[in-house]
Amino acid sequence: MALIVHKYGGTSMGSTERIRNVARRVAKWHAAGHQMVVVPSAMSGETNRLIALAKEIQPQPDGRELDMIAATGEQVSVGLLAMALKAQGVDAVSYAGWQVPVRTDDAYTKARIESIDDTRVRVDLAAGKVVVITGFQGVDAEGNITTLGRGGSDTSAVAVAAALRAEECLIYTDVDGVYTTDPRIVPEARRLPGITFEEMLEMASLGSKVLQIRSVEFAGKYKVKTRVLSSLTPPDIPLAEEAVSGTLITFEEDKSMEQAVISGIAFNRDEAKITVLNVPDRPGIAYQILGPVADANIDVDMIIQNTGNQGLTDFSFTVHRNEYQKAIEVLEGKVKSGIQAGAIQGDPKIAKVSVVGIGMRSHVGIASLMFRTLSEEGINIQMISTSEIKISVVIEDKYMELAVRALHKAFGLEQA
Ligand code: ADP
Ligand code: ASP
Ligand code: MG
Repeated sequence: MALIVHKYGGTSMGSTERIRNVARRVAKWHAAGHQMVVVPSAMSGETNRLIALAKEIQPQPDGRELDMIAATGEQVSVGLLAMALKAQGVDAVSYAGWQVPVRTDDAYTKARIESIDDTRVRVDLAAGKVVVITGFQGVDAEGNITTLGRGGSDTSAVAVAAALRAEECLIYTDVDGVYTTDPRIVPEARRLPGITFEEMLEMASLGSKVLQIRSVEFAGKYKVKTRVLSSLTPPDIPLAEEAVSGTLITFEEDKSMEQAVISGIAFNRDEAKITVLNVPDRPGIAYQILGPVADANIDVDMIIQNTGNQGLTDFSFTVHRNEYQKAIEVLEGKVKSGIQAGAIQGDPKIAKVSVVGIGMRSHVGIASLMFRTLSEEGINIQMISTSEIKISVVIEDKYMELAVRALHKAFGLEQA
């Protein structure tokens, strides 16, 4: 008998019929003697609907009120799932984040979990109940409802698993594991039976939305055994078979995995590029541009500065598209005149494509194969950034799918 956390995403919770199936699956694990905590997302499309409603009233919604609205999708889900479990004869209880409580900071729409009180949950588990906790939401020190950013239920689940020192956190979704790239873009993508924590962290941070990045950070920090698997298999398949399916995030590099130089390709269209033209090429310029951007709580991703020509240079960086307008406003304000920049140019039509793999550490030629492949497709590279285990490029967004397919093929990642 073990304490197990299950997380079900929007598609898995997408209709009352699917919720009944989730309840059947959870009941199977419970009947096998496990203590079960379940963290569902809102029904598919619901969070989008709620955010769109808010924006109809206020195009730049107030963060606190937006979280108040967006968090309701998960509240409906926990209630429905607890009912479905009871209907199947399994005692269950649902909780919103504030009832547990799941404490977060007060950064509305992208709050971070600070602590989770396990007292109430443990009492219920000891009484044999299945505990159903909302994903995506928490409560700040003042009692305000917060949300954790899109895809945040993954993080809720892994954080709950860490707080309860669960044996395993199973992330049930609409694919049967982590693939070499998004199978919706490349149908030949291959499921990985395992992926190292470091690779998963890069894949998630570079845009693979199969797991929210913070969930992977939690898994690494608290060594939570985390598996991604399908919620679309028949709920009554043998538990022993289900328990080893999908993709396990591993904390050790095993020898057989080392042979794969590249594990996967990630991409994202969520960023926008900003270029500050003709800035004086002198010490302190990067700080004068990016300091105010950071003070406005805007995360900067890739940065590029050319060498100066006649004492002037161009300075480009990328930010999340949601924060693009805000970043432009910050720069057009005091920054531009303060550093006597020529002009601020923005380009939201970019995409970032990255190849990821721990094998890169011991192999040369990965970058040149990547650049050659893109050049053969006639795709211009606007920015490049590398780390020990990844290479990312920024390209025009209309070439993104072409680039992903070409790289997937060039690195031999297709199914055998
Ligand atoms: P959920 O609602 O269950 O959280 P998400 O839509 O957030 O599901 O994540 C699952 C989706 O992630 C898949 O349907 C797939 O299109 C996408 N995805 C992106 N990259 C990958 C990848 N490398 N492996 C598997 N799925 C991926
Ligand atoms: N419902 C939230 C979203 O759509 C959280 C999640 O699905 O993980 O972003
Ligand atoms: Mg998700």
